[in-house]
Parts: sequence; structure tokens; C-alpha cells
Amino acid sequence: MEHPFETDQWPVIRARDFTHVTEKRKVRVIVIHSMEAPESAKTAENVARYFQEPDYSSSAHLCIDSDSIVQCVYDNDVAFAAPGANHDGIQLELAGYASQTPQQWLDPYGILLLNNAANAAAQYCLKYDIPVRRLTNAQLGDGTSKGIVSHSQVSEVFRKSDHMDPGKGFPWDHFLERVAFHRAARLKKLGGG
Ligand SMILES: [Zn+2]
Repeated sequence: MEHPFETDQWPVIRARDFTHVTEKRKVRVIVIHSMEAPESAKTAENVARYFQEPDYSSSAHLCIDSDSIVQCVYDNDVAFAAPGANHDGIQLELAGYASQTPQQWLDPYGILLLNNAANAAAQYCLKYDIPVRRLTNAQLGDGTSKGIVSHSQVSEVFRKSDHMDPGKGFPWDHFLERVAFHRAARLKKLGGG
């Protein structure tokens, strides 16, 4: 069955490194990252520009901060972000650090950032028919379950990198609640139609 839903058209700062895919990609996981960059209104744009540097060999689909979303890799291309879950993942980079406590993630900046990221994640849940849930490591490893995971889970399951973002303090319950909110709002706006 075709899913007609398409995401917003975000501003594009195209990354240098990605793999172009010609057939339609079967996306099953949304991978959450922290940029390891300071919280500011320009962090998404700044990190998107790092992804264009010749000596920077990673990328993500979206860079997200408190007031903007920048698309760095098109949805159907594979970003270089989380080995093991690149080919079937959408990679979201969030401003902030993996060392942040739940309180720091939920400060006034973080509330805006998480809402922005949840809005984007909700659109991918609709586009790829992904349920709003966090996968366990076993589900991530089974190769077929659909859901949302951290980069650290990808590292634990596939053992191809040691990145542990977005960290133990990431407020998953808050984030997933916002994703569900935005998903429902989008569906309502589409008028059930
Ligand atoms: Zn990461």
C-alpha cells in the first residue's frame, strides 16, 4: 500500500558524504543523535556546514535546534551516521550533548528543541509507517521491527561504533509523548482523508 504522506520541505544544506539510492528505501528506524555541540539558535545550520567539510566523513538526514530544521541528506539517500542502521534508518541530529541530565534536556531551550525534533520524527513515522515507540535492543537487532532508537542502541546491537549519544539523560518519555502529539495533529490536519 502506498503512503501518500510527505514531510515538510526543510531548507537544504547538503552534506558531502552519503550514499545515493535509486530504489525506494525501506526505512524502519528513526535514530536519535546528539550533536555534541552547544545549544544555540544556529547550531543546526553550523553542524550542517561541518557536514560539508572535506575532512568530516559523517552526515545525518536532519540537523535540528531550537528554532530550525536543516535537511543535510535527502530521505531516500543513506546518511553516514550510525553503522548497522544506516541503510534502513533516518538519522536525526539534535543540538546538545550526550552528557546532559534530564533536567538539562528539559530546560527552556531543550523543550523547544525536543518539540522541533518530535515534529520531524512524527512526519517520518507517517511517511514510513513507523509506530511511535522506542525499540528494545532485541527489536532493533531483529532487522524487521519498526520504531525509534538511540545511536547508543545501534552501537550496542551492531558493535560497529562506540558512540553513546544522545546519552542516558535523554528524556524518552517526554520525547515520545511529543512525537505522538505531532503525529495526531498531522493526521487531524489531513482531515482523515
Ligand atoms: Zn550519533
